[in-house]
Amino acid sequence: QKAEWAKLVEAESVTKDGKHVELAANIGTPKDVVGVLENGADGVGLYRTEFLYMDSADFPTEDEQYEAYKAVLESMNGKGVVVRTMDIGGDKELPYLQLPEEMNPFLGYRAIRISLDKTDMFKTQLRALLRASVHGDLRIMFPMIATLQEFRSAKKIYDETKAELISEGVSVSETIQVGIMVEIPAAAVLAKQFAKEVDFFSIGTNDLIQYTMAADRMNERVSYLYQPYNPSILTLIKNVIDASHAEGKWTGMCGEMAGDQTAVPLLLGMGLDEFSMSATSILRTRSLISKLDSNEMAALADKAINECATAEEVVELVEEAVRKAT
Ligand code: PEP
Ligand code: MG
Repeated sequence: QKAEWAKLVEAESVTKDGKHVELAANIGTPKDVVGVLENGADGVGLYRTEFLYMDSADFPTEDEQYEAYKAVLESMNGKGVVVRTMDIGGDKELPYLQLPEEMNPFLGYRAIRISLDKTDMFKTQLRALLRASVHGDLRIMFPMIATLQEFRSAKKIYDETKAELISEGVSVSETIQVGIMVEIPAAAVLAKQFAKEVDFFSIGTNDLIQYTMAADRMNERVSYLYQPYNPSILTLIKNVIDASHAEGKWTGMCGEMAGDQTAVPLLLGMGLDEFSMSATSILRTRSLISKLDSNEMAALADKAINECATAEEVVELVEEAVRKAT
């Protein structure tokens, strides 16, 4: 099987009936790009920039960040790179930020909530990103967006920062896309409204499942509630994808679910445009997708959403369909 997958490094990510999708990789540092290229990814679907902050004794400077973003964009050689602005908080601590202890860190002061509060820090990151944008195909996304107001505030700071750089004579790419992570149920439910204003969505299922099921993703005792195939989760995902397409936008997924071999047929059937996963899952997923028919998977996804009541029923349905196809 490994040998069969190895042949797919240079291949396109396409279904049996010729439908193209993007298979991208998640990275945490510029060094990870080596594995991304070795596994023939179509792009980077999630660059978790918080490691830049966590691996440092103090705030990384604008130049340090610029160098990191530029390195990733250059090595990806024109392929799309989705960079997420820092997602500190929750389980990710940052000693020099000195955040007060909270009862519910996952529901507290984190990610975009910090960025919109500590705008100097946010602007430094955006300046570095905008300066790096001329070195490749940059897409920026904001984590943990719950309301349109948050997106508008973040976008406003982005637009101001861009205008400042241009007035300083710095060149900035004109084709940067600005999107959001959909990982809070409120945003998934309201996707239709968000889709009018964002350039793209990336669904973060690790958090979306945790918040939808009200089950801490780090707590083993409630891990049975981490149910990617629960029809409630599938319904939210479908709502996001359909909303983006109705506005001519695209939807990716960068949570673990995007590389889950049982979820892939369903996501394909729902019309997901970009799947972002750990680099080591790309070739196996490309192989699976090449054996699936997109119309059959669309019918499968419809059935899962409209006729199944439990995750177990969905899994049974998918396994039968995949057995027939492969
Ligand atoms: C997610 O929530 O699905 C996600 C990709 O982000 P993280 O795992 O970094 O929270
Ligand atoms: Mg998340």
